Amino acid sequence: MEILVIGAGVGGLAVARGLLAAGHRVRVFEQAPARRVGGAGLTIFSNGAAVLNDLGVSLEGVRGRIDRIDALTSDGRLRTTMNLVHTAERFGFETRTIARRDLLDRLGEGLPDDLIRYGMRCQSLTQDRDRVTVTFDDGTTATGDLLIGADGHHSVVRRHLWGEGVVRSATFGTWQGRSPVDIDLTRTHLHLMITGREGACGLIPAGDGMLQWWFDVRWSPTDPRPAAPLAELRRRFGHWASPVPEVLAAVSEDDLGFFGHHWNKVRQVWGEGRVTLIGDAAHTMPPTLGQGANQTLEDVWVLGRELAKGGDPAVRLRAYEKARYPRVSLVSRLARRSPANWRIPPLIGRLFPETSQTSMLARYSNRLSAAAG
Ligand SMILES: Cc1cc2nc3c(=O)[nH]c(=O)nc-3n(C[C@H](O)[C@H](O)[C@H](O)COP(=O)(O)OP(=O)(O)OC[C@H]3O[C@@H](n4cnc5c(N)ncnc54)[C@H](O)[C@@H]3O)c2cc1C
Repeated sequence: MEILVIGAGVGGLAVARGLLAAGHRVRVFEQAPARRVGGAGLTIFSNGAAVLNDLGVSLEGVRGRIDRIDALTSDGRLRTTMNLVHTAERFGFETRTIARRDLLDRLGEGLPDDLIRYGMRCQSLTQDRDRVTVTFDDGTTATGDLLIGADGHHSVVRRHLWGEGVVRSATFGTWQGRSPVDIDLTRTHLHLMITGREGACGLIPAGDGMLQWWFDVRWSPTDPRPAAPLAELRRRFGHWASPVPEVLAAVSEDDLGFFGHHWNKVRQVWGEGRVTLIGDAAHTMPPTLGQGANQTLEDVWVLGRELAKGGDPAVRLRAYEKARYPRVSLVSRLARRSPANWRIPPLIGRLFPETSQTSMLARYSNRLSAAAG
């Protein structure tokens, strides 16, 4: 089949790889003038890593392996710990943090040079029983047998299918960055997640002396941007237990990026006829669980599996959406819980030994993963 993909982000590149390997003709249209180089890091858990492996994307040499996640209170008490070595043994794939730029580079490796057309913003689409036509901002059009909207959380394809006003702002926003921070934690494989009255903080060693870090604070789209955001973060979080103050002292204003959290209620049916959605276009969610890109990769895997069955493509697209709905709606609901709700009492950490918490994580990972179903 001739397949049009809108968007060359994580989902667009991944789905293009899979569909090309399955023998389809694929064209990808991206609004940006070139491949995105910005953005901090993403955590690829075992489920996302398994899909990448299937797509022939190696994470070899990516240094940010995570072996354990410790959840702490803001005064440094351990609430709970999760052993990701165990999940890696169980599922066969390690968890890593990777710069978004590096993930996009790896997804793009080996793809034909003319596969992606940059500077092409999808404006509208039409379809009949057999073909889909997309119109771009410059007035040009492209026609194919199927169209996949991989155009992220402001998706034009979703707007065409679902109408306006579907994605809403959530109550938190994230300040984040990836910087050289010379503290002991940076040299480990331990991911810290810290919560307190002021918000939440994540510290993830990313390899090569780099630390991926984020601070979640209450946010609404009408809030004015602070004039000096780093000073504001230091004021708010600077009294938390070590190593938070050391991290805040080491990073600079230039490292800071901000994004407000958004979400949409995941629908049972995403597309119509020969059009479907993958990734944030179908399920924008706050980054609370670090599953957005991982669930996008799972979409790609299930979509590939369904199309490989052959037959009426519209039927296969609906089967893909039906298969994805229960898991991705569960992840989305969990991710919507604000970081303030993570404040499970430290006593839980003492009552349940690490092994049972880890086995809970493995069971939870099973529920999130389409491959397990
Ligand atoms: C700060 C932050 C941290 C995150 N951390 C994690 C994490 O640790 N783990 C994780 O799994 N997920 C994480 N996520 C979520 C993850 O980034 C997204 O879920 C993932 O990128 C979704 O991929 P996508 O392909 O759907 O969208 P994107 O990667 O956003 O790609 C969409 C692409 O479509 C293009 N596009 C948009 N509109 C048009 C148009 N009209 N025409 C043509 N092209 C268009 C865009 O330019 C973009 O290139 C995080 C997100 C953020 C913001």
